[in-house]
Amino acid sequence: MPLEIEIVRCLTDNYAYLVRIGELCAVVDPSEPGPVKAALAAKGWRLSHILNTHHHLDHTGGNIALRQEFGAQVVGPAKDASRIPGLDIGVDEKSGWAFGGLKVDILEVPAHTRGAIAFVMEGCAFTGDTLFAMGCGRLFEGDAAMMWASLSKLMALPDATKIYCGHEYTENNGRFACTLEPGNSALVARMGEVRALRAKGGTTMASSMGLEKATNPFLRVGEAEIRKNLGMEKAGDVAVFGEIRKRKDSF
Ligand code: ZN
Ligand code: FE
Repeated sequence: MPLEIEIVRCLTDNYAYLVRIGELCAVVDPSEPGPVKAALAAKGWRLSHILNTHHHLDHTGGNIALRQEFGAQVVGPAKDASRIPGLDIGVDEKSGWAFGGLKVDILEVPAHTRGAIAFVMEGCAFTGDTLFAMGCGRLFEGDAAMMWASLSKLMALPDATKIYCGHEYTENNGRFACTLEPGNSALVARMGEVRALRAKGGTTMASSMGLEKATNPFLRVGEAEIRKNLGMEKAGDVAVFGEIRKRKDSF
């Protein structure tokens, strides 16, 4: 049974997602209840589950109100049970999860937060603040080696996997990417599309793993042009990744 996915804009630049299969409907990372309720009403869908990729308030702020109003079950990282408001079902890589009859893979992707997870179902990955379009999350509760391992886990997904991120950071991420790899024609082409989309107020979601591998500097630490621009031709992958993350922090 195919998934139906509805993008819900929240706060300034957050994304929540309604994911519907059969009679079940989950919301991924509800920042706030209002826009989620409006989207549910517009579609005529009833909320059954709330999925959280990590504990930050801009991803969980709607949990309690939506759980109360719809009797929806909150599903989130077992490792962060104490920090997920209203958590009903803690999940990890071993447990996985079942969304009705649909098998959902849970990937543990720590570093932005130590409990961060990604939900992967039917060729779609909800990556929260771990992987962004042309970017990655800040290292609040982990280090460069931990984030590199987490991103490497996501990179093992098939190229066709659709990527749904926690924020619309794409244009700024792309501007940074272009400073490191101006000779990447896929990146330059993508930036043209992103600028045109954003000028009209459009969303850049979903991305795909193949597109990220081709344009996201955080996944391209082995590229000669990036390494040359950093003066790190001979450094290890984690060192290059850490330097890119450090530069982006102050971009
Ligand atoms: Zn976050
Ligand atoms: Fe966030």
